[in-house]
Amino acid sequence: ERVLLTGGSGFIASHVLDVLLDSGFEVTVTARSEEKGKIIADSVKPHRLSYAVVEDIAKEGAFDPVFQTQAPFDYVVHTASPYHLNVQDPVKDFLDPAIKGTTGILKSIKAYGPTVKRVVITSSSAAILNPGNHPKVYNETCWAPETYEDAIENPAKAYKAGKVLAEKAAWAFVQDEKPNFDLAVINCTYVFGPIQRKLASLEAMNVSNHCIRDMIQGKLKNGFKLRVPVPTWVDVRDVAQAHLRAMTVPRAGGNRFYVVGGYFSNKQIADIIRERFPSLAHRLPADALDDLPDDVFGFDNSRSREILGINYTSLEKSISDTVQSILNLFPDA
Ligand code: NDP
Repeated sequence: ERVLLTGGSGFIASHVLDVLLDSGFEVTVTARSEEKGKIIADSVKPHRLSYAVVEDIAKEGAFDPVFQTQAPFDYVVHTASPYHLNVQDPVKDFLDPAIKGTTGILKSIKAYGPTVKRVVITSSSAAILNPGNHPKVYNETCWAPETYEDAIENPAKAYKAGKVLAEKAAWAFVQDEKPNFDLAVINCTYVFGPIQRKLASLEAMNVSNHCIRDMIQGKLKNGFKLRVPVPTWVDVRDVAQAHLRAMTVPRAGGNRFYVVGGYFSNKQIADIIRERFPSLAHRLPADALDDLPDDVFGFDNSRSREILGINYTSLEKSISDTVQSILNLFPDA
């Protein structure tokens, strides 16, 4: 069976691609340029992988040529969406690619992809969490409150608003248009895990691994405040499995999945690195690191365990494997 995977150059997508290929699927990834497509194609066994260039997912009809020119797809996994820290224009940088990218691909599938049975979208816990008013326990019934106007007024909210509005638009599309496919959504929380493709530099590393990178580079040695937005995390390999199973498990259709491995703090990360990589100890923050607050919110990941069968990776393994992957690619990090 054939899968279209968008945003193939991304961190999460690189792991989704691996589990899809390992499970015997034939995959076409989208990438923003020929060059990026070639790098992906060269990084894995080529015979079951091809790539298509989609320069900007925010453009009207961006995905139409993919469905018009490629052999038919059975599934679509849409991971492409901007995730970076330098917002200048909330509409151009986040809202348009997140929202129009999502509705755009759904329209293209409805128009030109009649064989597609299911679409899996990478949403986020950003579409669930409401930091101004945490419930006792978060689950899939929870929705973030951000609006389009919030993002315009405060660009710092543009990523979160883009994610929640894109996800809402996807569910509305399926309800209103009654297309040939059903939908499953992965609402993963902050993702750690191994970097596995060539990176031009450590600067090019995906955002959610930055705190691990910065710690082993000694950049946080003199103390810092917790800069990650949530105290929950999940391993990227669990996120990849969640995408695969959301695609293949029949009763996953029609569901969101809150994919959360556990809590973490900077102190726990530093302690794990200190124990597993003693040679890096001198670069780590010595003490006075924030640990988990007592009043941290609860999370319920039972749907992901019961329907998708996710057996969550430990923080120790995730952090150790991430550090090792960085050292493998950049021995002088
Ligand atoms: P990456 O930055 O590694 O991947 C983002 C991908 O989206 C890249 O392939 C990027 O292409 C592509 N992309 C971004 N904007 C456009 C655009 N306008 N047109 C075409 N392609 C575009 O991030 P992640 O792998 O971490 O994120 C993947 C998805 O997971 C996103 O939807 C993100 O919101 C979601 N997510 C991530 C979490 C995390 O902690 N990492 C947590 C929860 C959700 P290029 O490489 O060319 O820039």
